[in-house]
Amino acid sequence: MRNFFKNFAYVVIFILAVAAIFAFTSPKTETPKQVSLSQLVADINSANVKSVAVTDSSLEITYNDNTKATAEKETDSSLSQTLVNLGANKDALAKISFESKIDTSIWSSLIPLLLSSILPLAVFAIILMLIFRQAKGNAMQAFDFTKAKTRILGGNPKEKTTFADVAGLKEAKEELQEIIDFLKNPDKYLKMGAKIPRGVLLMGLPGTGKTLLAKAIANEGNVPFFSISGSEFIELFVGVGASRVRSLFEQAHKVGRAIIFIDEIDSIGKVRGVGLTGGHEEREQTLNQILAEMDGIESGEGIIVLGATNRPEYLDPALLRPGRFDRRIVLDLPDSNDREAILKIHCRQKPLANDINLREVAERTPGFSGADIANVVNEAALLAAKRNKTEINQTELLESIEKVMLGPEKKSHLLSKDEKKIAAYHESGHALVSSSLPGTEPVRKISIISRGMAAGYTLKTPTEEKKLRTKDDFISEIATLLGGMTAENLIFGKTSTGASNDLKQASKIARKMVKEYGMSPLGPIVFGEKEELAFLGQEFEGQRNYSEAVAAKIDDEIAKIIKSGQDSATQILTQKKDTLEKIALRLIEKETIEKEEYEQLVGISAVK
Ligand code: ADP
Ligand code: MG
Ligand code: ZN
Repeated sequence: MRNFFKNFAYVVIFILAVAAIFAFTSPKTETPKQVSLSQLVADINSANVKSVAVTDSSLEITYNDNTKATAEKETDSSLSQTLVNLGANKDALAKISFESKIDTSIWSSLIPLLLSSILPLAVFAIILMLIFRQAKGNAMQAFDFTKAKTRILGGNPKEKTTFADVAGLKEAKEELQEIIDFLKNPDKYLKMGAKIPRGVLLMGLPGTGKTLLAKAIANEGNVPFFSISGSEFIELFVGVGASRVRSLFEQAHKVGRAIIFIDEIDSIGKVRGVGLTGGHEEREQTLNQILAEMDGIESGEGIIVLGATNRPEYLDPALLRPGRFDRRIVLDLPDSNDREAILKIHCRQKPLANDINLREVAERTPGFSGADIANVVNEAALLAAKRNKTEINQTELLESIEKVMLGPEKKSHLLSKDEKKIAAYHESGHALVSSSLPGTEPVRKISIISRGMAAGYTLKTPTEEKKLRTKDDFISEIATLLGGMTAENLIFGKTSTGASNDLKQASKIARKMVKEYGMSPLGPIVFGEKEELAFLGQEFEGQRNYSEAVAAKIDDEIAKIIKSGQDSATQILTQKKDTLEKIALRLIEKETIEKEEYEQLVGISAVK
């Protein structure tokens, strides 16, 4: 695009130059003095005038002494008539030679016409020509959709992403370094008889930094890097995707060693034949082209295809076969140390107050992705600006966590009096059950200000995400989840729809306990085969490898676990009904209760 503006500037300069030449070369000899018509008449009468020439717009007078002058011409009437009217002597007039210099040739009228119509056309043609030429000369190929729009990621040198901008992801970085090393010193590996991988797949939940990491490699790897996003393939016409892939690989072959990055590859590489929309024809062609091109890479040639996806389980198995994306790098969600590091990166350019404690923020954001954390910092900055602060305080960061987690507070959506009461008992139920059971995290905040989808919420402080959890932990969690509904039941004798999400989650946990973790009397058996790649947290019901009879038993066990959770919640809340009331009433009054106040209400030492 820069090129285009440069050319455009040339054209403008060219036009200005032409205009200037016209202006300066137009016949403009030394200006003779101007006389009025009455002066002319007087001169004629005194026989000083030799001749008068009539041009288009004026009279050119030549005196006897050969000096010249001009006079304005009256256009309406004939010249001699005008002069006579002004009192010219007819005899004197007769002595003067009149000549007509009015240009009657065709050119005089044509040239202005030509200039006014053809010149702009010519300029326009030149501009078009320049555009086409630069479009051709440039890899952009502005008018050819089939050519891949490759670009170097993070091209803006001011915002160059480097490895320093990527926190955590240590293993992924190491693996990628290794691959860059392959590209730089292939002989080292080939001598050992090692095969250089052709395809490397980055897999991770959305926002874990796949695209970010690819950008960093593009900038730091010092190998030619071509990139394209899978979603671009499906934007245009049928057949375009495949030819783009072809052109992408052609470009890479030309430079020899290169990384080809295909972002969001799942949007092309979806399992074939399952699409409901008409678009899957196109996807199939594109996918086939990718497969063909990948197979066409000679081993040792040094072209590595890097793919990224959020949803590996949707990828066509053909992409995952040996010789294609057989090297896989999983990008995990960041742990608390990584989160702290990510926070540091995103706080770099921001004015922070002295009370900022990033460690605390990191500890309060388990399960957040890198993108979520970037979002928290940004929300905090927005919030601080909104409050006309000059620095970001810890309060803004902490508030932003809740905003990112639950959606913005809906202050406008006020609960009715009854709803508020129900929500208060519901949340108090969750909180009280949670803090009455062993193995649960301390309650940090209870609120009945609705947020996002939830009418209220109870936040707990995870001390650190646990990697290993026991059966007791799960049962406590289920009891806590059911605590809301149980409290409603206990106080009002009925339940509301507010509990549906709690129930869903509780059932999910119970199902996993039975089917995956072997935590039921059915024994240590995994029921149902999970798809190979379903480790990224998505539910992907695999093949059922058990009988109807077993299915019924599984359902029984799940029901039993839920029941025991419910019983324990009921028992706790019945026993501590007074405390429940106390919390709920305070909540109705204040809408939000923080940790200290809550612990005081519950008498936390007395509970545990
Ligand atoms: P995806 O895995 O979905 O491609 P991105 O790479 O686009 O995720 O990450 C989105 C944003 O989240 C990045 O631009 C960056 O600001 C932030 N981010 C994600 N992971 C990290 C990380 N490890 N370090 C620093 N920032 C990160
Ligand atoms: Mg991405
Ligand atoms: Zn609830």
